[in-house]
Amino acid sequence: MSAPVYLDYAATTPVDPRVAEVMSRHLTLDGVFANPASRSHMPGWQAEQAVEGARRQVADLIGADPREIVWTSGATEADNLALTGFMRANRARGRHLVTSRIEHKAVVDTAKALEREGFEVTWLTPERDGRVTPEALRAAMREDTTLVSLMAVNNELGSIHDLAALAEVAHAGGAVFHVDAVQAVGRIPLDAAAQGIDLMSVSAHKIYGPKGVGALYVRRSPDIRLEALIHGGGHERGMRSGTLPTHQIAGMGEAFAIAGREGEADQARIRALRDRLLAGLEDLDGIHRNSVIECAVPNILNLAFEGVDGESLLMALRDIALSTGSACNSASVEPSYVLKGIGVPRRLALASLRFSFGRFTSEADIDRALEALRHALIGLRRKTP
Ligand SMILES: *Cc1c(COP(=O)(O)O)cnc(C)c1O
Repeated sequence: MSAPVYLDYAATTPVDPRVAEVMSRHLTLDGVFANPASRSHMPGWQAEQAVEGARRQVADLIGADPREIVWTSGATEADNLALTGFMRANRARGRHLVTSRIEHKAVVDTAKALEREGFEVTWLTPERDGRVTPEALRAAMREDTTLVSLMAVNNELGSIHDLAALAEVAHAGGAVFHVDAVQAVGRIPLDAAAQGIDLMSVSAHKIYGPKGVGALYVRRSPDIRLEALIHGGGHERGMRSGTLPTHQIAGMGEAFAIAGREGEADQARIRALRDRLLAGLEDLDGIHRNSVIECAVPNILNLAFEGVDGESLLMALRDIALSTGSACNSASVEPSYVLKGIGVPRRLALASLRFSFGRFTSEADIDRALEALRHALIGLRRKTP
């Protein structure tokens, strides 16, 4: 039996072998293993140099200055630091935050926690294409709005926000603009300075780096104040204490550098693969696109299959690793809040699959997936009247 075809790159990516090679040089006695905060010896300086090199690699890909990068344990922590750290540090200026209903849980659950702390949140409903319009944001802005948080690319739909236009509205209303750019890095051009982004969360493991490391970009001018969530030692300009994981950081830097060189070519190749999948399904009825491909990244494709349920479909597709449009709670299967958020009917949301492609996806993978998918669909539809 061969390994399943992996079409769940939006959940995580394998580490690029070139990244793994760099990481392995930052672990053992013969490598760069020392504490980057050790200022009294050469091994410490070498580790610091590795960390600072990676800081530049990450900054370069997102149009930032290296001094604007704060290392974290991942984008979940970066989102927490951005929202909670900012709202707490700026509570004297206002208590209102604007975000959307289809943000990643790292933003949604943090905003809910802030509501319990006494902050107020406006939850914007996106358009059917998965995007919040600048007009909708403008209408939500209040005198006491201090922060707007919207994602660059949605992880279930692939929809791409017009960041520059949204930043302009946030700034006109006197607010700071945070972007969860996890799914955008290496997939669309990002330029924090040019797009007017003040805070940006990124992660390594969605872009062929290791799990457990990410960063928050924090604009330096005008200076943005954040209250630290993790104390002890004052690392990262006091915003995030803790010994820096040199091997993780070096790996993340390499992953970002590769994305800068190869991201565009990857996306062009992946677009052709996505179109191959769509073409291979064209003759089947009852397939709806939850992703509006005209305004989405090509590496994420969300489809609804009429007349079947997602769980049975997934069971029939054991040879393909992918995600459904639902989340299993303890008692019941609930449709994805993202699909619900853009108005996909419950019945279709429960029969949805997210295909996500990546650097190592081949035409043969797509053809195997197509064969399995067509077989499963035709079989399941025959069973249900
Ligand atoms: C994966 C993901 C996160 C969480 O990142 P981690 O590094 O796994 O904590 C946040 N936002 C989006 C959009 C994601 O896809």
